[in-house]
Amino acid sequence: MKSSVVRFADLLGQDAARQRVLEAIERGRLPHALMLVGPEGVGKLGMATAIAQYVNCLQPSDGDSCGKCSNCTKIAKGIHPDLHYVLPIISKKEGTKQWLTADYFDQFRQEFFHDPYLSFSKWRRMLEGEGKQLFISVHEIRELKRKISLKAFEAPNKVVIIWNAETINTQGANAFLKLLEEPPEKTLIILTCSDASVLLTTINSRVQRIRLGRIEKAEIDQYLQQKHQLDADMAEEFASIAEGSPATANEYLSDNSQKMSELYIEWLRAVYLGQYDKIQERLDSIVSENKEFQKLFLAVAVKKLRDSFLFQLGAKDLALSTRAELDFQQKFSQLMSADKVAAIAQHMEQSYRHISGNANPQMVLTALSLRVHGILRS
Ligand SMILES: [Zn+2]
Repeated sequence: MKSSVVRFADLLGQDAARQRVLEAIERGRLPHALMLVGPEGVGKLGMATAIAQYVNCLQPSDGDSCGKCSNCTKIAKGIHPDLHYVLPIISKKEGTKQWLTADYFDQFRQEFFHDPYLSFSKWRRMLEGEGKQLFISVHEIRELKRKISLKAFEAPNKVVIIWNAETINTQGANAFLKLLEEPPEKTLIILTCSDASVLLTTINSRVQRIRLGRIEKAEIDQYLQQKHQLDADMAEEFASIAEGSPATANEYLSDNSQKMSELYIEWLRAVYLGQYDKIQERLDSIVSENKEFQKLFLAVAVKKLRDSFLFQLGAKDLALSTRAELDFQQKFSQLMSADKVAAIAQHMEQSYRHISGNANPQMVLTALSLRVHGILRS
């Protein structure tokens, strides 16, 4: 897939923010430090990168970068020597080695430049940091200072992008404040932040804020169809629970969405085997969650069901998250035929509609389990 993810045109919505930035640049009034503030997953990091690319593009036109010049292509691949990212990571020390963004950057590059709507929770999972706190340390800020004190290699403007600036720890924030107070020449600093209230007021007062809003449902719907090849019904379901955040939609969609995935596998296994106490246990945990979760479970179930069928047909590029899921699909796909998939999917979609209405989820899901058992055993 082409990775031209960092032109403004490749981002969803955010026209007002983009206009503000373009006007400031046109008038030669772009401040040396910007802070993009807005809800999680609405494209702040993508916008920051699009700005970095625009200010360094050799042939910008119509308010966007060209996507073709040497600066654009290097930025779009995450390999431009004058664009520095500072990412929240698991900060650790091994012997004399202090882990920094650079040590995790390959992982970041592969995800982000493929799809800029990378959620923070996915990033945390990628670093195997579940339950751990990701943050930006003072070591990181010192390394950043060292890098930007060097002359720019290729670009007119060095750019620093700090993702989730609210994760800078106290020592780091103090060091960063000094950097803001004595801004290096020809360097644009862009912070992204979902909750500016946790940042030092002294940092807040030295940056110009630009607000990013939630994305229209219709745009997320389109994005899911194009980027993730979802069919229209599924895209609409996911878009409606995403609350204006494409990254949240990704998160829901993600086969790494462990809880949902495990629940689905356990439920279906119990349904196939007709183990009613186990089915009930699974249903209890689904019913104890809210309606959105229940709908999502069914949406994920339909997707995974179709995956089983594709798997059987030999599709090898399905993103299966775990060994357990791979084993499951290998076994389960043997039981499936096109007719069975269609019949089960239809019942699941009907259940989805019933739960969206005001039906009792316990009853709906119990009935569904019985029907699916019948179809699998037919
Ligand atoms: Zn360009």
